[in-house]
Amino acid sequence: MSKLRFRVVETAFKKKPVAVAVPAERPSEYFAKYVFNKEKMFRYLPSKVYAKLTDVIDNGAPLDRSIADEVAAGMKKWAVEMGATHYTHWFHPLTEGTAEKHDAFVEHDGKGGVMEEFTGKLLVQQEPDASSFPNGGIRNTFEARGYSAWDPSSPAFIVDDTLCIPTIFIAYTGESLDYKAPLLKALRAVDKAAVDVCHYFNPEVKKVVAYLGWEQEYFLVDEGLYAARPDLLMTGRTLMGHDSAKNQQLEDHYFGAIPSRVAAFMKELEIEALKLGIPVKTRHNEVAPNQFELAPVFEECNLAVDHNMLIMALMRKVARNHGFRVLLHEKPFKGVNGSGKHNNWSLGTDTGILLHAPGKLPEENLRFITFVVNTLMAVYRHNGLLKASISSATNAHRLGANEAPPAIISSFLGKQLSQVLEHIEESTKDDLVSLSGKQGMKLDIPQIPELMIDNTDRNRTSPFAFTGNRFEFRAVGSEANCASAMIALNSALAEQLTEFKKDVDELIEKGEPKISAILEVIRRYIKVCKPIHFDGNGYSDEWKAEAARRGLDCETSVPVIFDNYLKPESIRMFESIGVMTKKELEARNEVKWEMYTKKIQIEARVLGDLAMNHIIPVATQYQSDLIDNVYKMKDLFPAEKAAKLSAKNLELIEEIADRTAFIKEHVDAMIEARKVANKIESEREKAIAYHDNIVPMMEEIRYHIDKLELIVDNQMWTLPKYRELLFIR
Ligand code: ADP
Ligand code: MG
Repeated sequence: MSKLRFRVVETAFKKKPVAVAVPAERPSEYFAKYVFNKEKMFRYLPSKVYAKLTDVIDNGAPLDRSIADEVAAGMKKWAVEMGATHYTHWFHPLTEGTAEKHDAFVEHDGKGGVMEEFTGKLLVQQEPDASSFPNGGIRNTFEARGYSAWDPSSPAFIVDDTLCIPTIFIAYTGESLDYKAPLLKALRAVDKAAVDVCHYFNPEVKKVVAYLGWEQEYFLVDEGLYAARPDLLMTGRTLMGHDSAKNQQLEDHYFGAIPSRVAAFMKELEIEALKLGIPVKTRHNEVAPNQFELAPVFEECNLAVDHNMLIMALMRKVARNHGFRVLLHEKPFKGVNGSGKHNNWSLGTDTGILLHAPGKLPEENLRFITFVVNTLMAVYRHNGLLKASISSATNAHRLGANEAPPAIISSFLGKQLSQVLEHIEESTKDDLVSLSGKQGMKLDIPQIPELMIDNTDRNRTSPFAFTGNRFEFRAVGSEANCASAMIALNSALAEQLTEFKKDVDELIEKGEPKISAILEVIRRYIKVCKPIHFDGNGYSDEWKAEAARRGLDCETSVPVIFDNYLKPESIRMFESIGVMTKKELEARNEVKWEMYTKKIQIEARVLGDLAMNHIIPVATQYQSDLIDNVYKMKDLFPAEKAAKLSAKNLELIEEIADRTAFIKEHVDAMIEARKVANKIESEREKAIAYHDNIVPMMEEIRYHIDKLELIVDNQMWTLPKYRELLFIR
């Protein structure tokens, strides 16, 4: 046993950095090499087809099926020239990853041979036999008809030998079975609602785009050590392991020098990402040892979501080239920081970012305030839903753990913006009317200073912080598909902006001048959504009490948090803007609860197995050695002296007996509790049973295992410890 352990550790640490072949060209030359972007479309498509396709992409024009054959032909020509032999519809089912089924371009040529073939029909729509993807009962296996449909707004790309075509995945009855379909609907809805509101300020605006810039945090572990940790392998996190004596106390890892092996990994990852058109820009060490972050320049939301899914897959692949495994789990190690994925979000038009403060013109500032206040309203009204959108069995370990945002959604605005809102709120109606004169506008609203952008007054405890030209939704989990959060946020805002327009128009109809009507409604909203605004310390207990008083959602049980999707106001919101129906929401919640249960179930099984066939045997073996020693002491020394000399060992023997007995009893009890939970019909109730009964048992068992780790002979302990896992050499 001890031999195995040393072998693993040694080989792992002997790895030398892999030399990365850096392309001779500059990044600007190989950027998007594997992407069928506009430049390639222009080259490979007839000009009429190119014009029609770019109209679909840029202006959301309906897709003219008659161009599909020519697009497919051009795409295939490019892909084959690039060495691709297969194609796939690439989609985001309701699991964490992406799905793809590869088909070769090969077709019979009718003369006994084969030819490379790819038609418009194959490009536009396919029917993957994907009946085992989660669907929450919408699509029973016997009516297993779902199809994937081309999303032209996200460009096709090549991975290895396969042309990947981004698609949505829907049931034949029309319901969404993926993340992308509702995301596209939400983006369309927020575009429409925001354009209408923009017209108060500038009638020329034609399109509003939601942007997303994600920051991906992750851990790297040595692959040899990873292989010796069945819990990491099967659940993505360590289910046991005592704190390392040194972890992140010295704060020496954050922004520290990047170890050369890691730097080689990052370099290769970035080159491959750039070739796939992902504009990666920032990399640095994070707070925890072995924790890192990667961020691209922000992009249009749909594309950014695809790119994030793609980069997570790429990270997993490239890590292997360097003898690493990448951990995207939100909390792979207890006692050190977990990983999140900040979602920097904003809206913009062809004239610029709408959340960018401040403009020179008073109208621009009023527009800025309008979008900020409506965002706050949307977040306030749907704070529970937003929390549900980022909740999962895995992210639950991170939220509220004094390192990540608390499990309560609130918004940080900073001093300057808070003052501006206060000022507007405190104004009387007469003030506001005078404000609406150019003179007044200059006096008041333009006080939003330039320095708000990149201000240092950043509150890291806030889950939804304004950071100068965007809001940063920080509660998103590192492993999550950003689409979930983006669907909720953009939908909530679409509904909110629609209502804002209604409210303003009502006042205008009553004879109120436009600017004063807008200010009046804003003033009203600032008052209503005040409870969401919180600039203080989100980690404090006072905040928890205060948030409850303010009526914010303070629920911490993930299965119960999911109920937010089915609240009447959520259903009304999603239905009113055409993003999801009640039936879809219900089906998706079934999937969420089921996923929750399965994750905990797997963890509980792995923990039980490890406890029984790694921990208890090793502890018992060590205990036998101690007992042996005690007997030998008796043989060697007079009884009294032997007893004295063996006192400590006797204590250890007892401690091991107590702890192993506890572990065994609780593993058995946990199995029984699972049996009871598994019999529950309702997915919701089952998930709640797993949350309420199984999770606490796992914690208790772990506690005793971690204590045993401290006393059992190091050479005997079969599992790599935190001090080995967390420090890359
Ligand atoms: P920090 O860690 O300080 O928050 P980073 O530079 O790591 O900052 O990440 C900031 C992210 O925000 C980047 O992905 C960047 O592209 C993105 N971003 C900047 N401006 C906007 C914006 N207006 N809308 C959306 N994302 C933005
Ligand atoms: Mg950030």
